Amino acid sequence: MTTVNIPPFDATCQYKAIASEIEKNICAVMADGRYIMGPQVKEFEAQFAQYLGCDQVVSCNSGTDALHLALRALNIGPGDEVITVPFTFIATTEAIGIVGATPVFVDVDLNTYNIDVNLIEEKITERTKAILPVHLYGRPCDMTAIMAIARKYNLKVVEDCAQATGAMWSGKKVGTIGDVGCFSFFPTKNLGCFGDGGAIATSDPVIAERVEYLRRHGGKVKYHHEELGVNSRLDTLQATVLLVKLPYIDQWNAARAVIADYYINHLAEVKGIVLPTDVVSGVSVWNQFTIRVLEGQRERLQKLLKEKGVGTMVYYPIPLHLQKVHADLGYSLGSLPISEKLSHEVLSLPMFPELTVAAQEVITEALSQALANQHLTC
Ligand SMILES: *Cc1c(COP(=O)(O)O)cnc(C)c1O
Repeated sequence: MTTVNIPPFDATCQYKAIASEIEKNICAVMADGRYIMGPQVKEFEAQFAQYLGCDQVVSCNSGTDALHLALRALNIGPGDEVITVPFTFIATTEAIGIVGATPVFVDVDLNTYNIDVNLIEEKITERTKAILPVHLYGRPCDMTAIMAIARKYNLKVVEDCAQATGAMWSGKKVGTIGDVGCFSFFPTKNLGCFGDGGAIATSDPVIAERVEYLRRHGGKVKYHHEELGVNSRLDTLQATVLLVKLPYIDQWNAARAVIADYYINHLAEVKGIVLPTDVVSGVSVWNQFTIRVLEGQRERLQKLLKEKGVGTMVYYPIPLHLQKVHADLGYSLGSLPISEKLSHEVLSLPMFPELTVAAQEVITEALSQALANQHLTC
């Protein structure tokens, strides 16, 4: 018997496809010696800004830092509230906490997995300074509604685009619609480097300038420090990797969309799961293909798939309002029911541009069989 092993994500296929180009450029940097803030960093920032369609990109060491530096640049701090979702990665609220502000949770929509725009207004108080929507799994949030609310209440909008590089809303790339967009180049993201990396995108020169010096110890001029900064630069080597990869991003995102279509077509008849719906007015970049598994069958399905060599992931098993770190915020079980429901139902299938059709076939067949058997025995 041949043993199949399909991982949820595989970074090595992409490396192999562009290895010679990457290695040539990395070796050039190693010989050049400008390992910190070498010319590739600025070059990548310029090219990424052009790709997104905004005035400026400022790179930094991670998506988490992009978020927290963006909030700092907007003067958000102690006493301020930032509206966001509990159904996301911890980095979203970590950034809010790091600047001393308080996250205020709005539940997500069951179909889009993103912020429920109808629930935002009721959470706005005198202390609210910003809305921080997360484009989860590569699917864009309803930015039209979010921007309308932000304008009405004079709030800033910080987009968490960590999972959504290249995603579009109403003809614009996400990250260029709010005041500032925050990106991650962690290896599993759509545009990933070979370690940690991140960036902010903005067309506001004040935000760009402030993040630019906060990321290098808070001084515009070397050894003159105006305010408390951090050490959060993108390595020259990582910028070099990203410069090689950036020209491929649309092609890779398109490959993800083809895989998503395959899943949707081949899983349409399967009972007991809910497939992700179309994004109205937008384009998803499918960082994840996440289904909902009903009737409490997720763990069983995940185990059955694993036995057939199909790796899956649960993003995220505990919503942030129920995390110990946020116990002081006063939420409890039942506070945000959709996020809680999703945390028990979501299952992300293997998704990366190089996933073969043969693998997709194995995955969809294994899934169909697993759930068909379940219904026979029930
Ligand atoms: C990955 C991720 C981040 C953080 O990015 P890092 O580069 O890992 O710091 C933030 N928000 C979301 C939604 C993410 O998926």
